[in-house]
Amino acid sequence: MPDPNGFLRYDRRLPARRPVPVRIMDWREVYPPAGEELIREQATRCMDCGIPFCHDGCPLGNRIPDWNDLVRTGGWDAAVESLHATNNFPEFTGRLCPAPCEAACVLGLGGQQPVTIKQVEVEIADAAVARGGLRPQPVPAPTGRSVAVVGSGPAGLAAAQQLARAGHAVTVYERDDALGGLLRYGIPDFKLEKRHIDRRLAQLAAEGVRFRTGVNVGVDVTAEELRAEHDAVLLACGALQGRDTPETPGRALRGVHQAMAHLVAANRVVAAAGEGRPALATLPDGRPIDAAGKHVVIIGGGDTAADCLGVAHRQGAAGVHQLDLYPEPPADRDAARDPWPTWPWVLRSYPAHEEGGERVFAVAVQEFVDDGTGQVRAVRIAEVTVEKVDGRRIVTALPGSEREIPADLVLLAIGFEGTEEQPLLAQFGVTRNGRGAVDARPDWQAGADGVFVAGDMHRGASLIVWAIAEGRAAAAAIHAYLGGVGTLPAPVDPARQPLAAR
Ligand SMILES: Cc1cc2nc3c(=O)[nH]c(=O)nc-3n(C[C@H](O)[C@H](O)[C@H](O)COP(=O)(O)OP(=O)(O)OC[C@H]3O[C@@H](n4cnc5c(N)ncnc54)[C@H](O)[C@@H]3O)c2cc1C
Ligand code: SF4
Repeated sequence: MPDPNGFLRYDRRLPARRPVPVRIMDWREVYPPAGEELIREQATRCMDCGIPFCHDGCPLGNRIPDWNDLVRTGGWDAAVESLHATNNFPEFTGRLCPAPCEAACVLGLGGQQPVTIKQVEVEIADAAVARGGLRPQPVPAPTGRSVAVVGSGPAGLAAAQQLARAGHAVTVYERDDALGGLLRYGIPDFKLEKRHIDRRLAQLAAEGVRFRTGVNVGVDVTAEELRAEHDAVLLACGALQGRDTPETPGRALRGVHQAMAHLVAANRVVAAAGEGRPALATLPDGRPIDAAGKHVVIIGGGDTAADCLGVAHRQGAAGVHQLDLYPEPPADRDAARDPWPTWPWVLRSYPAHEEGGERVFAVAVQEFVDDGTGQVRAVRIAEVTVEKVDGRRIVTALPGSEREIPADLVLLAIGFEGTEEQPLLAQFGVTRNGRGAVDARPDWQAGADGVFVAGDMHRGASLIVWAIAEGRAAAAAIHAYLGGVGTLPAPVDPARQPLAAR
């Protein structure tokens, strides 16, 4: 029986992050472990409210009150089992999820701070490793059916694990040189050290999943070849088409780059250093890219922008500005706009924001300014208002508000335009919709018979928790398509949306 009064005795507390001057000298994760005493205290704040809206907030339907109470009472092994019943990779979500479950925690109804659900989750995930490692599950007798998974991000890997555990022969094809999707070279080590991915991959391999890296499906192997070899194909290729701003004067100047070019290059350098290989951060065309000693301007307000900020400080930037088109959000939920338990529009500060830099809200770049040699020397910005008219965004610059910010390196982190246009799409008979994503039918199929889609490729650029949920659900659909015995869990359907008031 959970403690009904725990939230009255204890305030919400999180472990202190590593000190900023120390952590910006390395690439290691910014959070130290919470310690058993703190995490059991915080789990005690969950009152088992009876109708846990956190379940609906979490796309995976994680059984949050169950594992909170198991942690409260020290039942770590049972908590590990309960968490893994709904989430293949809690070590990823526990570190990186923005935690829509916490926005939906019933404590928020009475003006209390939510339970630290995400922190409890990561502590359970790490306890699994500490208490004997991520043991492979015994695999049932082979079904004789085989599945190709294209893309090794969290959607592809979750589906692969579910299908292998149901007895199907699964091969994951990845065009990159290493597995993990955006978790490998998109997200920096200070948010997710790569040993977590490697540990989980070892578990998948031991459960029978085969991996083929350096294979660009549609180019190195055709859809026809893949279909001849496998009974079903899951496309989980992500939404990696970066949005650009070609119409802004000066976009072609040296020093103005897509954020992902910078992030991927920087993360590859960290990976190489970890393996004892020398490496220089370079763009795909071989030019070096590094923020050291530079005035950096990051355009955008999301995860990608915050990751660029943390990378720029670790590379030794002289100064960083982060520009956002929208006004500064309020510190607290505006209940009239975003009533509990929906995801509120509030100011979100990532650990990278504690490390320095200046955030500038409600501005838009008017021009990237040339230093006379074809290299950017500044951005000219104007204060703006943003309105939605008939679903379209209208940005209006305030006359007389223009000014320059010095810039030697400009990073465009202004979002993604869906999955990339690539030969694989036509070969599998799938097309991009108006958002650049690939629509799925209710059984997760898209295009030709036996071709399924999941994750960012279907949803558009989203979150790890959604990618895992869609990977699990698509695996359930593939299992049914292959005539598998019984059913696999399907936490979401293709039409599922985040909790909304209307
Ligand atoms: C910089 C950044 C930071 C982020 N931070 C967070 C965060 O903190 N928390 C969070 O929840 N979410 C975050 N996200 C979003 C999250 O990473 C994605 O939602 C998630 O990775 C999507 O998973 P996926 O499996 O659908 O695709 P991806 O992770 O994008 O993986 C797709 C894979 O498919 C491969 N592929 C594509 N085409 C082919 C082909 N033809 N052949 C073979 N392989 C192919 C790609 O190389 C890639 O490895 C972040 C995203 C970015 C860009
Ligand atoms: S995966 Fe995200 S939404 Fe689900 S319980 Fe964990 S932190 Fe909350």
